[in-house]
Amino acid sequence: MPADYDIFIIGGGINGCGIARDASGRGYSVYLCEQNDLASGTSSRSTKLIHGGLRYLEYFEFRLVREALSEREILWNIAPHIVHPMRFILPVQKGRRPAWLLRLGLFIYDHLGGRNKLPATSTLNLQKDSAGQCLRDKSSKAFEYSDCTVDDARLVILNALDARERGANIQPQTRCINARRVGKHWSITVQGQPGMKQKNITASILINATGPWADRIIDMLDNDESNQAHKVKKAHNIRLVQGSHIVVPKLYAHKKSYLFQNNDKRIFFAIPYKEKYTLIGTTDYDFSGDPGDSKITETEIDYLCRAANQHFKNTINKDDIIWSYAGVRSLYNDNASKAQEATRDYVLRVDQKSPDHAPLINVFGGKITTYRHLATSVLEKIENLISNNNPLQEEEWTATSPLPGGDFPTYSYNKNCQEFFHKFDFLPEKTAQRLFSLYGTKAYQVLGNAKNLDDLGISFSHGLYQKEVEYLMHEEWAQSADDILWRRTKLGLEMGKQEKQTLIQWIDSHNKPSSY
Ligand code: FAD
Repeated sequence: MPADYDIFIIGGGINGCGIARDASGRGYSVYLCEQNDLASGTSSRSTKLIHGGLRYLEYFEFRLVREALSEREILWNIAPHIVHPMRFILPVQKGRRPAWLLRLGLFIYDHLGGRNKLPATSTLNLQKDSAGQCLRDKSSKAFEYSDCTVDDARLVILNALDARERGANIQPQTRCINARRVGKHWSITVQGQPGMKQKNITASILINATGPWADRIIDMLDNDESNQAHKVKKAHNIRLVQGSHIVVPKLYAHKKSYLFQNNDKRIFFAIPYKEKYTLIGTTDYDFSGDPGDSKITETEIDYLCRAANQHFKNTINKDDIIWSYAGVRSLYNDNASKAQEATRDYVLRVDQKSPDHAPLINVFGGKITTYRHLATSVLEKIENLISNNNPLQEEEWTATSPLPGGDFPTYSYNKNCQEFFHKFDFLPEKTAQRLFSLYGTKAYQVLGNAKNLDDLGISFSHGLYQKEVEYLMHEEWAQSADDILWRRTKLGLEMGKQEKQTLIQWIDSHNKPSSY
């Protein structure tokens, strides 16, 4: 009997959803389960950069940096509504990496490949340039280079949406509780919310794309295979490293980011965020426990405030923090002594002892930036493992096919946003801009035939109307206020307690129990 699906993916972060998109576009049947909301793991808790990772050059990670650098423009092209170019100012600091080393790194960064539209590095005199005005020490020069920013959680949702449009079965709030090999197939048990019935699904290939949970999944599978009641040896393929961010009222007026070097050799970013804020991060602390429980600590808050206060004239303390979040990186365990030195590259491991053995592909590590490339590498492995009976596209296709809402040229973002605003000119301009920045050309679908504000239904404040909430629940798997306020949008930053409560109550009274 054929299996229910060619591919079963555990994990609805950027890697799982990226693989689901690529695989379903190539004609494979795909089932993806995510135990919570899509992007609820590390993939909504990043620094939100699509970047080459200048720092990784110090560790000679040229392959990773080259791959990441070329992904910047690819992702900007396929998702110009959520990926935006950004200039970064890197001041030369006394007692830190010397100017010649920074310039050399940036020369390599500019020329390693993949930079066609992003401007090259330039040198700034901080005494004269407006970028120096907000800094305490503007005695030095600085370098200004290019990378991109991204709405990380929406990148996950867009990949999931596209995968579903191409036939994938995407099931958030569905936990994989067991998987075992039965003949040539996998038999996987999933469970929805507590109290719901369990379900068994068969698949030819199992993909473990659970990021920081990857070793837990391996332990679960090994326990089942060896049938031991108490397994002694636990998997140690990944190293868990917590990183946290704080968001504060904006520390400076212009739209460029800063990259500073700290005295502990770490670097940290200050990035303009959502017009009114500055995003500051990140930290690197070894983590143990369930990655879902990670929380910013007082030590991290102090570290980030102190780091920002060393550089900016506007000082901050913990009372200025509007939002903070912590995420857990899963870094391939390369036995580096310091967390910041562990490789950021991804590693794919195929577990198949014989051709009759159902294959498992474990994904270790990876970055938001390299998710698409990682997915193509997984697909290469899959193509060697199972035959694709219905190949729509055998070749790599995701580099040129826009993600949902991203079907317009990068350079015409403002024009397309204005066109949207003209069509729905009853909206406040800020709301039109917010909608276009989240949904791109899909924003037309969000508003449908609305002719005036009344057609949008209940107003939940800050430009969020019933129509958008319904779209998110029907089309983007949103089931709770948090899904909407923190992952589909960032309106959680704007809404007050009472406004959030109204949204929670409305969703509770309109939520249908999910089925899978
Ligand atoms: P996740 O996003 O964690 O997804 C794994 C999913 O698996 C989770 O949603 C989890 O709920 C689910 N899962 C686990 N167990 C089960 C189960 N039994 N059943 C069903 N589902 C399950 N990268 C960049 O490119 N740019 C950056 O600026 C950047 N900044 C970062 C900053 C920090 C602080 C951190 C921590 C990481 C950063 N990264 C960045 C790295 C990037 O965020 C991660 O590499 C990426 O998000 C990992 O995605 P993932 O899909 O592997 O894991």
